[in-house]
Amino acid sequence: MSHRTIHLFRKGLRLHDNPTLLGALASSSELFPVYVLDRTFLEGAMGLGPPRWRFILQSLEDLDARLRALGSRLYVLRGSTTALLHDLVTRWGVTQISYDTEVEPYYTCMEREIQALAQERGLQTYTRVSHTLYDVRRIVKANGGSPPLTYKKFLHVLSVLGEPEEPVRDVSAEDFLRCSPPVEPHLEQTYSVPSPADLGLELETEVLWPGGETHALQRLHKHFQSQGWVSNVSKARTVPNSLLPSTTGLSPYLSLGCLSVRTFYHRLSSVCAQAKNHSLPPVSLQGQVLWREFFYTVASATPNFTKMQGNPICLQIDWYHDPEALEKWRTAQTGFPWIDAIMTQLREEGWIHHLARHAVACFLTRGDLWISWEEGMKVFEELLLDADYSVNAGNWMWLSASAFFHKYTRIFCPVRFGRRTDPQGQYVRKYLPVLKNFPSKYIYEPWKAPEDVQLSAGCIIGKDYPRPMVCHTEASQRNLGLMRQVRTEQQNTAELTRDVADDPMEAELKHELQEEELLEGAEQHSTSKRFSSDADHKSRPCSWTPETLQLSREVM
Ligand code: FAD
Repeated sequence: MSHRTIHLFRKGLRLHDNPTLLGALASSSELFPVYVLDRTFLEGAMGLGPPRWRFILQSLEDLDARLRALGSRLYVLRGSTTALLHDLVTRWGVTQISYDTEVEPYYTCMEREIQALAQERGLQTYTRVSHTLYDVRRIVKANGGSPPLTYKKFLHVLSVLGEPEEPVRDVSAEDFLRCSPPVEPHLEQTYSVPSPADLGLELETEVLWPGGETHALQRLHKHFQSQGWVSNVSKARTVPNSLLPSTTGLSPYLSLGCLSVRTFYHRLSSVCAQAKNHSLPPVSLQGQVLWREFFYTVASATPNFTKMQGNPICLQIDWYHDPEALEKWRTAQTGFPWIDAIMTQLREEGWIHHLARHAVACFLTRGDLWISWEEGMKVFEELLLDADYSVNAGNWMWLSASAFFHKYTRIFCPVRFGRRTDPQGQYVRKYLPVLKNFPSKYIYEPWKAPEDVQLSAGCIIGKDYPRPMVCHTEASQRNLGLMRQVRTEQQNTAELTRDVADDPMEAELKHELQEEELLEGAEQHSTSKRFSSDADHKSRPCSWTPETLQLSREVM
């Protein structure tokens, strides 16, 4: 069968490991690669802010250039996806529409509309999964029809399913030769990639993460040049306040599908297979990729996953409604330099380290402000380049101890957490230049500096930089009491995402705990079950085989 096909890019903005595009090309005599900039949808359902807009536009430019190098091009349209498809099907005489299957409700809703259009117009549809390692529906099915709600159960299901599929070969010029692109000169101007200015986006910030498959593959390649680093990554040992990312920084590319997660995963597998010693899930790099898969799986089969209300796995908490406090957090005006520096980096650069995300998320929710995780999630959605429906909500539930994470008595101190890995406060000085002349002794708590020190630093606390918006000790004590009460009342919900045995993520937390504040009066946790120091450097297969799983249990 030789189709005239529209290949609809939504995520998956790449030509490597793109099974949907490859399959569509194989069954077509003409193929139109299409991306729809549906502003209402992208800014509404997906909460896109200007930095991610720019990242998407750069990724589209890159995709267009890569397609042109193969003798094709990208057609960028503006408007509503289904309305435009209705029109294009007639105009271009289309007989098939291809697209990647996604899990987010707004994408599945769009897929239903495309299916309805196909039925109405007698078109074929061609879809494959390529944004996750597995078709997450298989994982849910293998778990008896519901998603595995703990990482340990999840790894167990994967050990039954076996390794994820290998990536498919790159799309080539030969694929497009068989599928000659339509020659319509007037289309050239009409469907080009707009610039941020064309869309009225004002962006003054520097581009540290240029969008697109080319940059994604370069970044991947750079990391894999140091195979020792790749195989020995232990998440908890990476530094949240280093001035350059201490982890791969691949998340923006994975989130938009400029990089295939299967390509990343299988490259990790081959490096680990050659390494004598390597770290293991949950703290290894493969472990991180599996966390992503875990949240995608749970999100795909949990109603209202990004909300508290109507979400069966999420504790129902009477969070404070305090727009003023939320605004201070959002705009880096909390008066805690560590928190404000992170929020500044987020706003200016669109990426922050995982533990930095821990710090600000804990502060906003169960740590200090007792504000709903949904509010924090929305701010991240707007500002993060890697903002992702499943991963963002899953981690916010985790950090607020609303689901998945149960050691809620552990609350990060907004002073000591940052000081541990950056005692001189270089990170704070970079992102909050107003504080840059404070002596290191006061850089994390400048309100304690005597007046003459403040004067000579050129920054008066309360005037040039805010005083702390809360007393951390008091606020965290009070919140701990509230959380304890919630968990007593909603024990059944809490148990849903908890393993009877300890949580394997304990490995990740072990390191953080050394400096973490254990609140007065909080239950003191036994350390007897913590991992031994070399726990994540056993010489074992890199993936989640039953042996690995057993090892995770042993090291707890
Ligand atoms: P690496 O450590 O190099 O990990 C490689 C990849 O593994 C990442 O790119 C990511 O795809 C995946 N990964 C790593 N950590 C996690 C995790 N905890 N959960 C799921 N997948 C993970 N990540 C996002 O991609 N999008 C989000 O919207 C997002 N929101 C978050 C919100 C909060 C409150 C927290 C605490 C974490 C959030 N994360 C999110 C997870 C994590 O912080 C980032 O994926 C990671 O910091 C990205 O940097 P990296 O690519 O260098 O990660």
